[in-house]
Amino acid sequence: MMKAAPWPVTALFLVSLGLNLWIAGMPDWRWIPAALVAWYVADALSGLTHMFMDYRPCTPGVGLKRLYFYEGSRESADYLALRESVWKKIGPFEKLVYDFKNHHPRPEALGRRSMLVQIGSTIIFVALPASLVLNLGAWLADAPGWMTFGAVILIIGGTFAQYFHGTLHREDNPAIVRWMRATVLLMTPRAHQIHHDTLARDFATNNGWSNPLINRLFNLAIRRRWLTEAGLIPQ
Ligand SMILES: [Zn+2]
Ligand SMILES: [Zn+2]
Repeated sequence: MMKAAPWPVTALFLVSLGLNLWIAGMPDWRWIPAALVAWYVADALSGLTHMFMDYRPCTPGVGLKRLYFYEGSRESADYLALRESVWKKIGPFEKLVYDFKNHHPRPEALGRRSMLVQIGSTIIFVALPASLVLNLGAWLADAPGWMTFGAVILIIGGTFAQYFHGTLHREDNPAIVRWMRATVLLMTPRAHQIHHDTLARDFATNNGWSNPLINRLFNLAIRRRWLTEAGLIPQ
């Protein structure tokens, strides 16, 4: 259902990010706090997106409920045909919304996808456009280097959000992921398990730094009934 971005798109994205770093110029001490703030904001964006997608109701009556509660083998021809017929009725956004809900009963599926598949749609719809806008903005406005660098870190944190989430659901991760966990730049599977145990807190999945803030927002959204529990499961 999800695909990697076509390689020219990924290549253009890398060139555009490189151009941003070149525009940013010579590093100085301000790049460090800028990067840390950006890493926090990327985490908060992962949390806000996750919270919204978990609780936004799926479109009823298109078969998503049957798909979600399917009892037989998910490799059977029957299941695959059902899935195919449902996919034909909904757009990419609805698929993504379903994907977030489907992640709760079947979390390992996310970890099985390759990195390029996990980050493909984020690159196409968010990261590449953001990086191109930054190219233009940073160059035209002659933005300070630390600001451009912070924006690059934010784009990178956002791009890899789904990949980082996937690493929380698999054992064999590259050394850099293990190192980033040890330095709290990424969160641990144990910390993420709190989300899966409750579905009502700790939505941020990059490093969890923003979870205290997102949890407050979530409680407010539930109290005001902007979000309701019925949205968690396809009806
Ligand atoms: Zn969730
Ligand atoms: Zn998860």
